[in-house]
Amino acid sequence: MALLPAPLEQLILGLERLPGIGPKTASRLAFYFLKAPEEYASDLAEALKAVKSGTAFCQTCFHIMDASRTECQICADEKRDKRTICVVEDSLDVLALEKTVGYFGQYHVLHGVLSPIEGIGPDDIRIYELEMRIKTEPVEEVIVATNPSMEGDATALYIRQRLEKYPVKLTRLARGLPVGGDLEYADQSTLLRALAGRQSL
Ligand SMILES: [Zn+2]
Repeated sequence: MALLPAPLEQLILGLERLPGIGPKTASRLAFYFLKAPEEYASDLAEALKAVKSGTAFCQTCFHIMDASRTECQICADEKRDKRTICVVEDSLDVLALEKTVGYFGQYHVLHGVLSPIEGIGPDDIRIYELEMRIKTEPVEEVIVATNPSMEGDATALYIRQRLEKYPVKLTRLARGLPVGGDLEYADQSTLLRALAGRQSL
């Protein structure tokens, strides 16, 4: 016999699946919603629904965008440098680099990194699409800005192998970013320095 009403149980199970949330926190959050004003819970439920239906991925760079757009604001911006593509792991890294106000090129969001342990291979992230862009766009430099982690480095090396045959300059963000750290958590000046000091890959 279940100790809790089914809807509450359901909510706890759903919250438990969130990154960084264990069973205890999930239960605490669920009880918080139980006590919170009706409006708060329904607004949040609406936002959760809209986050899927109201967003899409740019079909050029795979950055997240409003579902009503046909390409993201960065790709659509004529003033941005089409000769440079900065390759990042996810959309949050795009935001981090945009905040530095020191990068004016394009992006390419991989949506992950290679990870044999987790069974993530080249076909599971947007590497093929990157290669297609190198073939068809006037790209001169590819800055690989995957995180300075084991997987990030392995992904950078794989990208180098994969793109070696094309006449593009391949660079990697300079060291100085905390090892194992996440691009999205680096402060703006560290990120700017890493960008300015990028080295050939
Ligand atoms: Zn885009």
